[in-house]
Amino acid sequence: MAETYRISSSFMVKFITSRSLSTVGKSKTPTRSLTAKLTNKLLTDPESITMASTDFGNIVQEIPLGILQPSCCEEIVDLVRAAYSDDNSSVLFPIAARGRGHSVRGQALARGGVVVDMTSLASKQGGTGGGAAIAVSWSALLGHYADVGGGQIWRDLLEETLGHGLAPVSWTDYLYLTVGGTLSNGGISGQTFRYGPQISNVHEMDVITGTEELMTCSPNENPELFYSVLGGLGQFGIITRARIALDRAPKRVKWVRMLYSDFSAFTRDQEHLISKNGRDQDNALDYVEGLLLMHQGPPDSWRSSFFPESDHLQIASLMDRHKIIYCLEVVKYYDDLTQNTVNKDLENLFQGLSHIPEFTFQKDVAYVDFLDRVREGELKLQVKDRWDVPHPWLNLFVPKSRISDFNDGVFKSIVLKRNITTGTVLIYPMNRNKWDDRMSVVVPDEDVFYFVGFLHSSGFDDWQEFDLQNKELLQFCEDAGIEVKQYLPHFGSEREWMRHFGSKWRLFQERKDQFDPKMVFAPGQKIFDSN
Ligand code: FAD
Repeated sequence: MAETYRISSSFMVKFITSRSLSTVGKSKTPTRSLTAKLTNKLLTDPESITMASTDFGNIVQEIPLGILQPSCCEEIVDLVRAAYSDDNSSVLFPIAARGRGHSVRGQALARGGVVVDMTSLASKQGGTGGGAAIAVSWSALLGHYADVGGGQIWRDLLEETLGHGLAPVSWTDYLYLTVGGTLSNGGISGQTFRYGPQISNVHEMDVITGTEELMTCSPNENPELFYSVLGGLGQFGIITRARIALDRAPKRVKWVRMLYSDFSAFTRDQEHLISKNGRDQDNALDYVEGLLLMHQGPPDSWRSSFFPESDHLQIASLMDRHKIIYCLEVVKYYDDLTQNTVNKDLENLFQGLSHIPEFTFQKDVAYVDFLDRVREGELKLQVKDRWDVPHPWLNLFVPKSRISDFNDGVFKSIVLKRNITTGTVLIYPMNRNKWDDRMSVVVPDEDVFYFVGFLHSSGFDDWQEFDLQNKELLQFCEDAGIEVKQYLPHFGSEREWMRHFGSKWRLFQERKDQFDPKMVFAPGQKIFDSN
């Protein structure tokens, strides 16, 4: 189990400074087999160690031996080679690729190991602070695509592709995440119902495996590695390049929120809207999400301010009356060609919806501002020192057939009773046929399932209270037989991981044996005992 502490980063700097750095992670004397060149490259100063010892969650802390900021892929291959004993029989130190460390339970940490700062490789390949290493191309087979480093940030990819009038089609709500980091999980947002998760929009990758090879993989070349790595929680190798599908970029978006007091009307409408999901279908939305509005938090959250100030009182009184309000959030893209028809299209799409008519809010914003909507909230929280705080998040996929039971037992019972929700709670459905079962990621076995995300922020002293709520609602699901699957999963034992993967567990193990037989990668996921 990961050790958990409740101490701030500044404390950690002092803590590490007060220890002899030579003793950090010394138990396995890993530097023995590091070449002098690599040893010199490892950062071991207290600030670097502190940065790599924790993540966005601010709950788990694992102190690494050092941090590698590679300038080329070969340095990562050298590092993997150095991680094995001379007779290749054992692992001397584990290795964790780190994107932006935006995991919340230590998934990108490596106790006594080496953390590979993938954003540094990306900046040397181009991207933030570097030149243009994101290559945009076209082929008759694939159409438009971008080759992009695993450590590149999606925001940079957006910027670069927009210069060509193009953009990826599948997003996360927040763009300051790395390509390798989200492809290791799934990469979901309101576009997923129509375009699939980000892992369904990759043509090819370069991956450094635990067998010390840099391999190119795609559905046709080394397919087993390709499907293992997508949603593979960093277990099979380090993604150094991904080929991402692109499409024509829209210019602007119509962005609409509607309020509901009735949960079944809310989910019925969401499910109706995501049933129109053909990629080339004109009468389909481009984004469908939803969120809960409760008195424990203001109507606008860090994810995006949306409601006009003048309407806050009215919304608050609606929340007073109903305790929980469900907010549908949808978007339709448009450009010069469709600007005259987009309103009519929306009108048609909204026909028959059962929201409270006087609570409909609409915005018209640039495409890039919509995609980058969370950044504004982040910057505001940073100024108030409320971004770098513990985040005891819980993210779940819930089968459609039990979403009403989930509403009754979790939202209306546990969450209201505990009265502690200050963060955003997201709820939106997606279509299973947009996910590929050959990939490592696990989702419920129903045609439609919901994403429910409890995105809590807490103080350094009270994150356990949120964790108790998380545990209580997981226990409720267990007792009620609601077969939820965790997204960005976190478990404390192999038995729980086996349950999570279900029928995929054996395959996951076989793939681990094939691509990382000595279990060198991503120890922070705590999947295998030897991690
Ligand atoms: P890290 O946290 O650094 O790494 C995650 C895991 O992947 C680790 O195990 C790491 O070892 C491994 N890894 C990292 N890079 C590589 C690589 N190149 N090759 C192989 N393995 C690698 N997720 C969504 O799907 N949708 C959202 O809308 C969304 N919104 C978010 C908003 C915020 C504010 C935050 C903090 C997170 C959000 N996430 C969302 C979660 C996000 O997808 C995960 O945190 C994910 O891990 C990406 O973060 P990262 O790039 O910092 O990866």
